[in-house]
Amino acid sequence: MFPFSYTAVTDVPAALAAGRRGGRYIAGGTTLVDLMRETVERPEHLVDIDALPLRDISATAGGGLRLGALARMADAARHPLVRTGFPVVSQALELSASPQLRNMASLGGNLMQRTRCTYFRDVSAACNKRRPGAGCAALDGYNRTHAILGTSDACVATHPSDLAVALTALDATVHLLGPDGARPVAIGDFLLLPGGTPQHEHAIRPGELITSIEIPAHPRPLASGYLKVRDRRSYEFALCSAAVVLHVRDGVIRAAKVAAGGVGTVPWKLHAVERHLVGRRPAPELWIRAAQHAAAGARPLRHNGFKAELLTRTVERQLRVVGEDR
Ligand code: SF4
Repeated sequence: MFPFSYTAVTDVPAALAAGRRGGRYIAGGTTLVDLMRETVERPEHLVDIDALPLRDISATAGGGLRLGALARMADAARHPLVRTGFPVVSQALELSASPQLRNMASLGGNLMQRTRCTYFRDVSAACNKRRPGAGCAALDGYNRTHAILGTSDACVATHPSDLAVALTALDATVHLLGPDGARPVAIGDFLLLPGGTPQHEHAIRPGELITSIEIPAHPRPLASGYLKVRDRRSYEFALCSAAVVLHVRDGVIRAAKVAAGGVGTVPWKLHAVERHLVGRRPAPELWIRAAQHAAAGARPLRHNGFKAELLTRTVERQLRVVGEDR
């Protein structure tokens, strides 16, 4: 380890003041402490925000949800409003990490977690995300688990969060509060593509806090679900995942929201799949045809060419599961 200071705060103004002075926020600590132990991250000042009153989960007008940023993953997963209103979120949370980690980790921290690229966590390896300009060991290294969508010459690491995939499908908004006040950011704008600056992963400004995550109201009835494909059945990150949300009325798909995880440098919104579904009648052939659009634009690396086919099959299967479970 290395020396750092630690301050615990109990109210939001005190947190923001500490953040303005350069403090690094920590809540459950399930990501940051690991990275500090490995010296991948070396914050000088930690600000413990765990006691802030940001854990509420409540309904919004019209049938949406507001999730406090410090709500625990386990609490959110079993909350009746989440479980009944947006099962895709409950399922994504329950398929994440381990029960012990879900009891500790906050929703905001889940969105802020960093990639599981092994080269990123190995301080002896070249990594543009850890040290800009150093190069990317994954490009010529073992890249079976890396991304096929949204990659750049600088970085091909996948985004690790299951929750973020469900929130991307649902067009959620991340609410931030900082020195310049409050601002909402669409989740698709909050998580950044690597481009030439993979060290910047989130559209969060110095000193800003995530206060809540808002899922907008969706037309009802709404069927949704999350499928995660991984090398082992528990405590493993996704090789590929699919979040599917369908609104079907009078036998026609009126709205479709689909996103994939484990394949993109950010959760990947499958717009072409969504477009293929809307206005059509649910049918086995429709799921197959729509899923053919899932891997459009994929750029496989040496060891992860299988992910394009896996993505197509994962999306098709989850469309079928959700589409036939309405
Ligand atoms: Fe670093 Fe990204 Fe390359 Fe992994 S893929 S080594 S995180 S630059």
